[in-house]
Amino acid sequence: YQRRNMIIALKATISHTEALALAKQHESFLITDDGKQLLITSSSVKELPASLKEDTENFWVMTNDIQLASRKYRPQIREVAIGNILIGGNTKNTIVVGGPCSVESEEQIRSASIVLKELSLSTLRGGCYKPRTSPYSFQGLGIEGLRLLRKMKEEFGHTIITEARDATQIHEIIEYTDVIQVGAKAMYDQGILRACSKTNKTVLIKRGFGTTLQEFVQAAEFVMSGGNLNVVLCERGIRTFETSTRFTLDLCGVAWLKEHCNLPIILDPSHAMGYAYGVPSLTKACVAMGVDGLLIETHPNPSVALSDASQQLNFEVFKTLINELKPLANCVGYTIV
Ligand code: PEP
Ligand code: MN
Repeated sequence: YQRRNMIIALKATISHTEALALAKQHESFLITDDGKQLLITSSSVKELPASLKEDTENFWVMTNDIQLASRKYRPQIREVAIGNILIGGNTKNTIVVGGPCSVESEEQIRSASIVLKELSLSTLRGGCYKPRTSPYSFQGLGIEGLRLLRKMKEEFGHTIITEARDATQIHEIIEYTDVIQVGAKAMYDQGILRACSKTNKTVLIKRGFGTTLQEFVQAAEFVMSGGNLNVVLCERGIRTFETSTRFTLDLCGVAWLKEHCNLPIILDPSHAMGYAYGVPSLTKACVAMGVDGLLIETHPNPSVALSDASQQLNFEVFKTLINELKPLANCVGYTIV
């Protein structure tokens, strides 16, 4: 038994009202992608319904639940905005998302903002709602942290990316951030995914450490099928039998995603490795694959960081690394931005 869902592109002559009626009649999702109205059918539809033939411009038979994110439907990698920088498409940009694990203080987040500026980088991360494994660990500054991120945006013009820990925070977070991060532990949370799908913000979804590639892309489908196609995937390491490193960065998985999925991919060597000593060389391996972005944690004094202390790079190491990445990226036809 093979699943067969279908993507049906309606003719341009079909009005939105007509499309809505067709979607209802055929129990389908109605999505607008690149100006085209698409119906996405459930797996009970085995072939193009005769009643739809006249209204159909094109259709694709899909054999699993990867639809809008599939290169079988849309071979070109989608272009997605991270603030005013585009990644994916034909851009060949490798965007660096830099900054501390958590926003801890104004001084701390400003120092990271300055380092990015010095390196001509403009995408600042910092968690305000941290999904910690223990309730006794630092949970993040919450709204106070969001205010500090906004301040950095105003002072430095940086693009802000921060994590939503649960769906109730989305309405608050979108006031302060350009990109919503859905963390590895939150990516199964359909409340968060659906809430993200109702915003027009870019959504960066991190792969759960026990998540198959199929499930990972299906999480993206939740956001896309809800109407938000601005999704970026982030590989950040999976759990294997190995315990010497924090996780295992799945570069094979990245190759698979590049082959089968049309979403830009950001790699996070910091969380995968878990130890600062391995992050620079691992980052170089990522860049050599030709990727759309990198997420690297950096902190003014990692040893006293309130979260992920062992993996954050100090500013000297971070600066050296970024400068080494620039020519490396150029070698594979990409530009560090
Ligand atoms: C983070 O980016 O700081 C984070 C919590 O990552 P992950 O969700 O991948 O563990
Ligand atoms: Mn972290």
